[in-house]
Amino acid sequence: MIVLENISKEYKNGVHALRDVTLTIEDGEFVYIIGPTGSGKSTMIKLLDGEEIPTSGRVLVENTDVGKLKHSKVPIYRRNIGVVYQDYRLLPRLTVFENIAFALEVIGMKKVDIRRRVREVLELVSLEDKAKSFPSELSGGQQQRAAIGRAIANHPKVLIADEPTGNLDPQKSKEIMELLEKINEVENTTIVMVTHDSTIVDRYKKRTICLEEGYVVADIMKGGYLKHD
Ligand code: ADP
Ligand code: ADP
Repeated sequence: MIVLENISKEYKNGVHALRDVTLTIEDGEFVYIIGPTGSGKSTMIKLLDGEEIPTSGRVLVENTDVGKLKHSKVPIYRRNIGVVYQDYRLLPRLTVFENIAFALEVIGMKKVDIRRRVREVLELVSLEDKAKSFPSELSGGQQQRAAIGRAIANHPKVLIADEPTGNLDPQKSKEIMELLEKINEVENTTIVMVTHDSTIVDRYKKRTICLEEGYVVADIMKGGYLKHD
């Protein structure tokens, strides 16, 4: 479960990126965070992954008080949540297999278990035939599927996706959405997805939290796009 309790975030320059945000995301939910540029979406993600700490209020992710984590504990915390980005961020010198395996090596999984889990993940993201390819040899859609595979390899309870379809055409975006829905259903992973893509929000209806100037201005269970920026 994710709980934001009276979260405010003011950056050093005086910008109030989030103002008194309170919300709960239950286990297994799939939630969109939408809103115009500058409304606080990235800040919310950074509070969830421990990159920033709130000025006031509390961020709980699976009972971890993220804002109170010691700096040295943040990397360990991050191993238990999956994060995917618009620009994929795969390690360029490692193959697809090795990129996914790496996420499991750092948690100390045994080699034999790593091989089995990587095979399983490659099948889930439909990249069995790209195991030995390097990221630069893949299309954008394939790179994002590899990045999603890496993010969920460790069975995280929570997957945070920051504009995962931002660089992809509608057909590739559809594949990514179908993959995220499969992960949400099959692995029961909670998914929090920031998106600008009104077509996706309208087509794959889910709980939609809309930010504006740091405030939650709408939180609708059925979803659908409210405003276009
Ligand atoms: P979004 O992701 O919705 O575009 P952000 O969370 O990035 O919104 O930004 C919210 C507000 O906070 C904006 O006014 C932005 O300029 C400001 N902001 C974001 N990051 C920083 C930072 N590191 N330092 C100062 N201001 C920031
Ligand atoms: P997908 O639907 O999986 O995103 P595409 O239809 O874009 O894939 O690509 C078809 C094939 O062309 C893929 O096997 C991929 O390896 C190759 N390909 C596409 N874009 C690139 C690229 N930028 N660099 C290298 N290979 C690419």
